[in-house]
Amino acid sequence: MNLENIKNLGAKNIKLLNKLKIYNSIDLLEHYPYKYNFIKFMKLEEFNSDTLGYLQVIVSSNPTVNYIKKNLNRLTFTGMYNGINLRVTIFNRQFLRTKIKIGDTITLYGKFDNLKNNFTARDIRFDLENNFIEPVYHLTDGLTHNILTKYINYLLENNIDFIDKIPSYINEDYKLINKKEALQFIHNPNNITEIKKARIKLIYEELFIFMTKINFLKMNNDVEKGIERNIADTYESEFYSVLNFKPTSDQEIAFKEIKKDMTSKKKMTRLVLGDVGSGKTLTAMYAIYLNKASNYQSAFMAPTELLALQHFKSCVELFKNLNIRIEIITGKMSKREKDKIKDRLKTGEIDLLIGTHSLISDDIIFKNLGLVITDEEHRFGVIQRKNLENKGINPDVLYLSATPIPRTYAKVIYKDTDVSIIKTKPSGRKEIFTKIIHEDDIRLVLKKMLLEINEGHQIFVVSPLIENAESELNSVIDLKEKFSKAFLNKARIEIIHGGMKNAEKDAIMHDFSIGKIDILISTTIIEVGIDIPNATVMAIYNAERFGLATLHQLRGRVGRSDKNSFCFLISNSKDNNRLSVMEESNDGFYITEKDFEERKEGDLFGTIQSGEKIFKLANMKNDYQILLQASKDAEKFVSEKKYLNDKFYLDIYENIKKSI
Ligand code: ADP
Ligand code: MG
Repeated sequence: MNLENIKNLGAKNIKLLNKLKIYNSIDLLEHYPYKYNFIKFMKLEEFNSDTLGYLQVIVSSNPTVNYIKKNLNRLTFTGMYNGINLRVTIFNRQFLRTKIKIGDTITLYGKFDNLKNNFTARDIRFDLENNFIEPVYHLTDGLTHNILTKYINYLLENNIDFIDKIPSYINEDYKLINKKEALQFIHNPNNITEIKKARIKLIYEELFIFMTKINFLKMNNDVEKGIERNIADTYESEFYSVLNFKPTSDQEIAFKEIKKDMTSKKKMTRLVLGDVGSGKTLTAMYAIYLNKASNYQSAFMAPTELLALQHFKSCVELFKNLNIRIEIITGKMSKREKDKIKDRLKTGEIDLLIGTHSLISDDIIFKNLGLVITDEEHRFGVIQRKNLENKGINPDVLYLSATPIPRTYAKVIYKDTDVSIIKTKPSGRKEIFTKIIHEDDIRLVLKKMLLEINEGHQIFVVSPLIENAESELNSVIDLKEKFSKAFLNKARIEIIHGGMKNAEKDAIMHDFSIGKIDILISTTIIEVGIDIPNATVMAIYNAERFGLATLHQLRGRVGRSDKNSFCFLISNSKDNNRLSVMEESNDGFYITEKDFEERKEGDLFGTIQSGEKIFKLANMKNDYQILLQASKDAEKFVSEKKYLNDKFYLDIYENIKKSI
């Protein structure tokens, strides 16, 4: 169902839902709670000064509001609990004054200070009568919990779109609850058992769909319909001759594997998996070179324009003495400029086109596309062949990924791909010295930074936030102020974050890359792939907020030359056990294994590089057993062609057949 057809859902709220990537009724039903509040009323006696809890009281005085300063006011009243009067205080809720009426029963959430006979409330609820489980959803500014659940409940009450995507024979085998119940239970659970039953059903469903897609992809890739190239050996030595370093042994193995794929009848579907800075891009360039040697065009897609530009620069540099014509398409270009490139592409005057994913979705026509490379992710967004209009050619596909995955998992989820792993680092690379620092000791970090700046080196500073929403965190904006004070005129400091316009970001990145900026303060947007060999310090604020995989990615932005590099993990947390893995090791594979062992919610599979979630409920680590089962079931479902009488899967199958 379209969102427009949901009762009382207007344009304003549709826009807000869209922000949460909810575009139709199914997305809405699948906007599952990310956690639950177990609301249980407590007795007053059960509170001590550290306990947070819910307490029901009867309002016994009219509230008053004190305006303390500009953004701070305090609302107070008395409430009665079992005949005892206590004072209730809540900050910045002056708007509740008219809602709180003498004689009403209300629920306070907060802490009680027995000595002062004062209850400091964080929240006041008017709608609670009994103990209950409250789902908590990801929301967006302007979209409240109540609005969201109103629409979800409308769908639930009207039986809209409960499509069970698990084949019925599997539902029966595992005695899974039906889809309607599962949705009811996940959104409005009465008890924990219901949540558990719903989760098993919905997690299995997600993983089964995912694994069925992987099996379809594998089937699609196994067909012998690739380009069988003939490449003379001299081309290889020509490629080596333009390198000013010796490829690592793993790079050489990857070259061999790529060459084998590209000269065989089978279409290449290969993933190059390697730690940050391991030199994956070079393997892509090698493939581009072979592709040109057999007179085909290549497309190289990066997740961001920044990275596309960087690849463009490195390709131009590497290929400058070889006869490869390279172009880039960026959002900044005028229509005329783009049209010019498109024309030359169509007539075969361009060998390599670099850009973001717009290369595939736009009306870009290649003369004879032979190779598609996608950098860092989007593996699971199926690339549509029909947009390529490549006249019957089946291009080889190479994926690059810096997300190291433990082997056991890789075997399951990369079943449809061949994998080249790059473990050896380019020689001359040094370990990045890593240290956890309490903010009280920040002077040590600042001192080190100044020394590095005086050496002409550059610095990254990362914060989890753009602006200060939660007061205890340092935002990009705060840090700019602090660093400007600390360094006065001794350093050129700039900020970059996702809230800025692309042109602004590009300009800043450009200035940083040519050394016009000493300290770049940013959010994690610099996580993916940026290559600034002159950067030697990475300081990450509130490091405890990040997953190890992310921290490792961020750290990989330094140590990209033979200079000594440093990573400071700034954390005021009492327990830095998890972070200490970063001090221990520079090996991404090791760190991810540890991350899996120690974190309840591994962020590795939860989100792909672009920050998009692959799964809504499932977590590859916690639900590994279900994943294995779903993987087996999906394999059977596909090999025994059971999908043929299932419209949902047939559509997926058809789509994948059309993909490259
Ligand atoms: P990744 O994409 O795996 O993060 P890059 O391909 O960007 O890593 O490589 C990082 C840097 O190392 C680049 O500047 C690249 O030119 C350089 N490099 C790649 N391979 C080698 C090598 N074998 N020896 C020395 N430097 C290398
Ligand atoms: Mg790269």
